[in-house]
Amino acid sequence: YADFVINAECEEEKSTNSIVTAYVVHQLTKKKNSISYISTNGKSKATFSEALMQGLASDKGLFVPKYTPKLSQEEISLMKYLKYYELAFVIMKHFVNIEDSTLKRICKEAYHFDIPIESYYNGKLFIARLDQGPSASFKDFAVQLLARMMEYIVSKENKRITILTATSGDTGGAVASAFHNLKNIQVIILMPANEISKRQRKQMTTIGGNIKAVLVNGKFDDCQALAKEALLKVKGTSSANSINIGRLLPQIVYYFYIYSRIKADTFVVPSGNFGNLVAGLMAKKMGLPIRLVAAVNENDEVPKFFESGIYKPITPSKRC
Ligand SMILES: *Cc1c(COP(=O)(O)O)cnc(C)c1O
Repeated sequence: YADFVINAECEEEKSTNSIVTAYVVHQLTKKKNSISYISTNGKSKATFSEALMQGLASDKGLFVPKYTPKLSQEEISLMKYLKYYELAFVIMKHFVNIEDSTLKRICKEAYHFDIPIESYYNGKLFIARLDQGPSASFKDFAVQLLARMMEYIVSKENKRITILTATSGDTGGAVASAFHNLKNIQVIILMPANEISKRQRKQMTTIGGNIKAVLVNGKFDDCQALAKEALLKVKGTSSANSINIGRLLPQIVYYFYIYSRIKADTFVVPSGNFGNLVAGLMAKKMGLPIRLVAAVNENDEVPKFFESGIYKPITPSKRC
């Protein structure tokens, strides 16, 4: 049992003062930035909306911001005065070209759940409960905002889009709940037929409407390979996996949020495709003074790569 719980969203007295909030938001967003994206393979360039709507760059890389905005320690220390959705606005504003009023509104709509931070062993260990969203996985933090940003761009640019997403369980449920009933967005979820729990399968197959779930006779890797091939070949498709930068950016926010509440210097990050870890690295590059520890199972090609400099993907990935 937890020694105590900081239910940070309930610390109302810290942020009821709207003048303080307005001041902090102003301080943290006053820098002007030109937001452009470049693929990690170096060839493709994009604006934020293009990166979001393509998902995977045409040279098969990940779109990343050309410049990483830097925040000073003074700026970071102001973050404790902000609620989660206010902080999400402050961080996301550095990366997206969505007007302030809309970005504020969609951040508020996306983050309507608590983020309890539990303390164990007399404050030596904390657990950030990122499982209070609609699908009970931390992916809600990413896709609740991703879905709303996509809906905004689709409606602004008068487009239609099909989201292809591969899942080994948690992504699909989070995506289904976040994208359900959004206008002009169709979602196709690919999942490995024999590697999904019953409950997770139901999260995806019972929701209906614009959400279609497809069982693939294969593993997660096969689902991701099919999705990637279609993304490159079929126009009007995008991804809700962490190959889409729009999926990673919202995950930067909780590193700042948790740090602002408990000043943790080491974050242990449960890792699979390392999207969560990349978001942590981006937070670090923005100036957050933290150390990251990747917790992996037997699919440990990334830590092995850091040790040896040799990248040897484990294919097929091991089911642990
Ligand atoms: C998705 C997920 C992971 C892996 O996250 P990555 O961003 O793919 O590294 C780990 N644990 C849980 C519970 C997850 O839902």
